[in-house]
Amino acid sequence: MLRVAVVGSGPSGCYTAQSLVQQDARVRVDVLDRLPCPYGLVRYGVAPDHEKIKSLQHTLRAVLEHERVRFLGGVPVGPGGVPAARLRELYHAVVYCVGAATDRRLGIPGEELPGSWSATEFVSWYSAHPDSVGGGFLRGVRSAVVIGVGNVAVDVTRVLARGVTELSPTDMPHAALTALAASEVTDLHMVGRRGPSQARFTTKELRELGTLPDTGVTVDPAEAARDPAFTDPSALSAPQRRNVEVLRGWSGAPAPGVRRLIRLRFFLRPAELIAREGRVGAVRFERTAPDGRGGVTGTGLFEDIEAQLVLRSVGYRGVPLEGLPFDAAAGTVPHRAGRVLREGAVAPGEYVAGWIKRGPTGVIGTNRPCAKETVASLLRDAPSLTDRALPGDPLAALRAEGVEPVEWEGWQAIERAEARLGASLGRNTVKLSDWESLLSAARGTDG
Ligand code: NAP
Repeated sequence: MLRVAVVGSGPSGCYTAQSLVQQDARVRVDVLDRLPCPYGLVRYGVAPDHEKIKSLQHTLRAVLEHERVRFLGGVPVGPGGVPAARLRELYHAVVYCVGAATDRRLGIPGEELPGSWSATEFVSWYSAHPDSVGGGFLRGVRSAVVIGVGNVAVDVTRVLARGVTELSPTDMPHAALTALAASEVTDLHMVGRRGPSQARFTTKELRELGTLPDTGVTVDPAEAARDPAFTDPSALSAPQRRNVEVLRGWSGAPAPGVRRLIRLRFFLRPAELIAREGRVGAVRFERTAPDGRGGVTGTGLFEDIEAQLVLRSVGYRGVPLEGLPFDAAAGTVPHRAGRVLREGAVAPGEYVAGWIKRGPTGVIGTNRPCAKETVASLLRDAPSLTDRALPGDPLAALRAEGVEPVEWEGWQAIERAEARLGASLGRNTVKLSDWESLLSAARGTDG
């Protein structure tokens, strides 16, 4: 038997477990997660109104219900939890699929002002992440600035623009739904530091902004045309060309009479967040110009955009794991085909997959080949890994050490509690959003 611990139950962890059990009938996998709930960013990152992507949970569920896979939730690995070295003793191999747990910083004055949040803080709030510090995002907000033009920026802009009718059928926590329903945001600015052809969003996500009820989208054609490819997109790759075509369709004034307006802005890089009455009041941007090599240079000209809410959506960042090497510049664990490298040499029995391996890029499906590569390395190493006898069932050992994992039945109890909560509110399933409710549902002490 080959016993493998997969740390993290998001897409990369689940695809790793799936690939392991599919490829080798001797493998048994424990998928550990610090949260009592599985699915990682599929549960806590994919926007609630993206039901189709959310439905990927069904695929991931089938993996975690496989007879040779166990879900062990509520088990942190590292400080205050199970040390990485202990996991190595309990399993033949450990695959870290912990994603990129924090966000990139802008490093500009005013970033910490009240009213300035990372997009991930906002996403965590409306996704019911139990660590969310949330609340108060929308109080007194008429104008919001989203910094960055990736898919997360599109997600948060869209959620800000959506009405209660569209959000109410989702599993969004009730407090977030109520706050969004009362929102008075009318002006949304999504701002990129480079040109339209260099934006990171994908066309499907971008196009959706144009379908939101009572919401207009506009692009200033003169500003966008600083990017020569906006006027002549013929030399662009197909995905870039599709983006530019959608953006060109929004050139000029939007249809009159809409309640909210999304302005897509380009060639503006954030310089400072300006305070008004003790909180953010505007973002000062420096106008940039293309440098002809895909980058931009500053022009020394500045523009202030009013904002009582600023969402910094400039990408995720991996964090170091205690006991594992870390490449601070890339925010990833150094590896060779998924095998962790310590000072350039392969560390036997330690692997990575997903964002902690390759950085926070790509869509969910990108994790499949990424996990496959890691699993191929692991199974090739299996003969040397299984040389070592293990102390017995790792779950029994963890329990003896005081760890009380939330097992699959506990997670199913959380799902039932969320269905009951939804029914009591006249909605579909509604997520539980705090540790206490999740753990008491999992342990059956919620009455
Ligand atoms: P991202 O795609 O890397 O986009 C980050 C954006 O922030 C870029 O526009 C980048 O501009 C900008 N940026 C970075 N540093 C900046 C700075 N200092 N000042 C101003 N702008 C800055 O990151 P993301 O949106 O967080 O998405 C992460 C991954 O998740 C992506 O692969 C994305 O496709 C995926 N995702 C997919 C979906 C979906 O499929 N529906 C939804 C959400 C996320 P530059 O290009 O100039 O660096």
